[in-house]
Amino acid sequence: MTQQRKAVSLISGGLDSMLATKAIMEQGIHVEGINFYTGFCVEGHTHAIRKQERAKPKRNNALWVAEQLGIKLHIIDIVEEYKDTVINPKHGYGSNLNPCLDCKIFMVRHAKQWMEQNGFDFIITGEVIGQRPMSQSANKMPIVAKESGALDLIVRPLCGQFLPPTLPEREGWIDREKLFKFSGRSRKPQMALAKEYGIDEYAQPAGGCCFLTNPEYSKKLQDLWDARGERKYELDDIMLLKLGRHIRPRPHFKLIIGREEGENNFMSGYKSQFTHLSCVSHPGPLALVDGKLNPEDRELAARILARYTQGRDADKANIQLIQPDGIAYLLPVTPFKAEEILESWHV
Ligand code: SF4
Repeated sequence: MTQQRKAVSLISGGLDSMLATKAIMEQGIHVEGINFYTGFCVEGHTHAIRKQERAKPKRNNALWVAEQLGIKLHIIDIVEEYKDTVINPKHGYGSNLNPCLDCKIFMVRHAKQWMEQNGFDFIITGEVIGQRPMSQSANKMPIVAKESGALDLIVRPLCGQFLPPTLPEREGWIDREKLFKFSGRSRKPQMALAKEYGIDEYAQPAGGCCFLTNPEYSKKLQDLWDARGERKYELDDIMLLKLGRHIRPRPHFKLIIGREEGENNFMSGYKSQFTHLSCVSHPGPLALVDGKLNPEDRELAARILARYTQGRDADKANIQLIQPDGIAYLLPVTPFKAEEILESWHV
């Protein structure tokens, strides 16, 4: 009697992890997926809240992939444990604040723990040699294997034929000849394989699986750290960096101003925690204040917000400011002109 071997696959929601998983399932292995939630994930956040982007499907692609493949998906919240990877990456950052190599090591290490706790035999990733310079080059893959402790238990089906045989191959659990030789940034081999598998719908790769690869997002995160004088964050901080216009007119506070209805609605959920401003004389967005305002700052904040309301050309706009302690102020202010909102204030 042969033992049914089991593999856990890191599912991002993109095509590569979908194909890698399918390739191993085709070899008769029982596969379940893991998707790690770091708080920086692009999946199902921005697209889900913006009203303008209603045409895009609002699905969680990792769940959708699991459903398409007919596998169980475990979504694991790693927000707290992941912080140190972002704040102190041993291998440094990529072009933005993306600690991709440390991130891969972290995720594979956690996948290995999960594998051991759940009686699984090996780990699958959708990596392709040379696709991402920081974490998917031939010389980085052994670093991930070694520092995660997963060693030869990581199978990368899409480029496996380029790599030394892993334990599952040597033991005959999977056939090395049925792994692939994909390399580089071209997506053509993946698209051809998808066609072969009858997969005709998949999420388009959007430059990375998380917001840390995004230059504007990274700039906002760096600004948050600089303003607070320490490299720390909470989940709410990093969620709010994903939306709104961020304006820092003084080092000790910034305004987050909704850019459209979906963002304003989402930000409304934070009203009890943040001082917030809205215009009561004209339609306009909601603004949250990150930081503490003195009386002079209140007027400054109100004039900035007024600029983004439909009262921008009026002599006066009435802005209501409410603090988390419930104290409210009504501030009749002259809206700033466009040129008075300094470029340097935009984070
Ligand atoms: S893009 Fe983000 S989630 Fe993906 S490896 Fe890099 S840091 Fe990790």
